[in-house]
Amino acid sequence: MYNYSRREVLKKMAIGAVATVAMHSDLFAGESVERNKKHFVTLSFDDGFKKSSIRTAEIYEKYKLSACINVIATAHLPGFGLPNEYHRWPVGDFGLWNELKARGHEIMMHGYMHAKKTEITFEEGKTLILKCIDYFSKNLNGFDPMESIFNFPYNASTPELEEWLPTQVKAFRTGGPAINELPHKGQTRLTCTTYGPDNIEKHLNEEIDKLLERPSGWLIYNTHGLDDEGWGPIRADALDQLLERLTAIKTVEIIPAGKALKM
Ligand SMILES: [Zn+2]
Repeated sequence: MYNYSRREVLKKMAIGAVATVAMHSDLFAGESVERNKKHFVTLSFDDGFKKSSIRTAEIYEKYKLSACINVIATAHLPGFGLPNEYHRWPVGDFGLWNELKARGHEIMMHGYMHAKKTEITFEEGKTLILKCIDYFSKNLNGFDPMESIFNFPYNASTPELEEWLPTQVKAFRTGGPAINELPHKGQTRLTCTTYGPDNIEKHLNEEIDKLLERPSGWLIYNTHGLDDEGWGPIRADALDQLLERLTAIKTVEIIPAGKALKM
């Protein structure tokens, strides 16, 4: 009886010790990985082309990553006026956006109708953004504007809209330096670079090299479609190879913008 309980006690202690070690080693591994991650990369895919968005999500999933997809609220509706010839491919609808979101991808706002906010009044811009927020609230499951990013069409913002927007959304993306400060609390203004209308691969790789040369930073690169779709496309194979290359670099974190701002 005595021996049995002693054995039980020893066994319990051993299990406890193993569990403690396992817990600590996980914790330390997690901490050291976080400490080493100094290069954040967000490929911010605009315009919501159906074929490209599905393929982009699949490629990200291959590497257990979340894609960052920014869609126009009304582009899937009949009668939507194409902003220009680079929008002529079929877009996804909120059935697809809800499915991709449920699979862990980020679906964010890219305008109510893709208006260039520098060419309309502040009041008109505000009205369109509020309609965009309202449409997303009604059609995208779990949408919370204060956890969301408004991605300006054409990366065209105005100082007045920039001042007002943080009262409506968590952050906005506009044109500016490609490399941002690492994500931190209160960061409401994200800037990005982009390239087009031709293939972006050379330009994108140069921007990634510039990021990796620095001790730290957050590259936000505004991408569009894959292969033949959209303004400034990237080949699906090139995206796949890029993610393979970047996921092998210990300092790199490939992350959608909303998730980055939650850290
Ligand atoms: Zn766009």
